[in-house]
Amino acid sequence: MTDTEHSAGDLVNDPVVEETLPATGAVEVETESGAAGLVDELARETAATDVRVERMLIVLDIDGTVVLEDESLSPGVVDAVAHAQSAGHEVMIATGRAWESTRGIMRVLGIAPEYAVCSNGAVVLKRIDADDLAYERWHVETFDPREVLTLLREHLPDARYLVELPGGERLYTEYLEDWNLVHARRVPFDELSEQRVCRIVVVAPEQGEGEFLELVERIGLHQVSYAVGWTAWLDIAPQGVDKSTGLERVRTELGIRPEQVLVIGDGRNDVGMFAWALQHGGRAVAMAQGPQEVRDAAGETTTSVEAGGVAEVLRSL
Ligand SMILES: [Mg+2]
Repeated sequence: MTDTEHSAGDLVNDPVVEETLPATGAVEVETESGAAGLVDELARETAATDVRVERMLIVLDIDGTVVLEDESLSPGVVDAVAHAQSAGHEVMIATGRAWESTRGIMRVLGIAPEYAVCSNGAVVLKRIDADDLAYERWHVETFDPREVLTLLREHLPDARYLVELPGGERLYTEYLEDWNLVHARRVPFDELSEQRVCRIVVVAPEQGEGEFLELVERIGLHQVSYAVGWTAWLDIAPQGVDKSTGLERVRTELGIRPEQVLVIGDGRNDVGMFAWALQHGGRAVAMAQGPQEVRDAAGETTTSVEAGGVAEVLRSL
């Protein structure tokens, strides 16, 4: 493409910017004769939808971002989300939680976005009915859990295990109070490995966070992605899958430019989506109470979940 062609539209003149634009986006390079038509079209669109700011894709983690450890809401988050939505932005969730325990949070937040990313990116749900908050499993990533389960069991014989099946059913070995066990069935350990799964969750109360990280390193979980959660919680996803892989599918479907992405999170399982947002010109915000390495991975830090960090970011948009 020549400079002459560029100057006609005058919208794209930086090759770096151009490279990050979507194939079919709001910005197209027009020829001289097409430029006037484009201006007319933009004017019509603007008048019709009364859009003053370009639509953003705002992605919120749940635990430690929207809710505190006791499940109470971060101050001001409901109003701030409503404010962002009324400005025309798409506010959605990307969480390590399964759908069953994500839906209730979406209800409390008052959102029914077109998509939700659950199970650390292994499951993307698509809205069927906003009023009922009914969603279908739109994209599901799976892996064979046998090898990983065998390895983990060798090193953590007393741990408790849960797997999520592609259809949403969950199998677990032992009851745990803080697991929402809707659509869950207790099975012997060996039965966990009988089919492909979307995720494995391992809880070993006697393991500290550091010990867990060290163990994962030592036994070499190379065929999977993993994240260590709040306390003695190891979450294993298919290789190469994290929140960002689910989100990129969603962003493409929604046709929102990468520069219009804003993600907020607090944990190691958010680092992938931070990198994804930043890499393509978007914003990544970490909660103040998150680990140092997580805050380092974000472009910005807001206040803590207790202090209303999400509300602070959304109010400033
Ligand atoms: Mg979190």
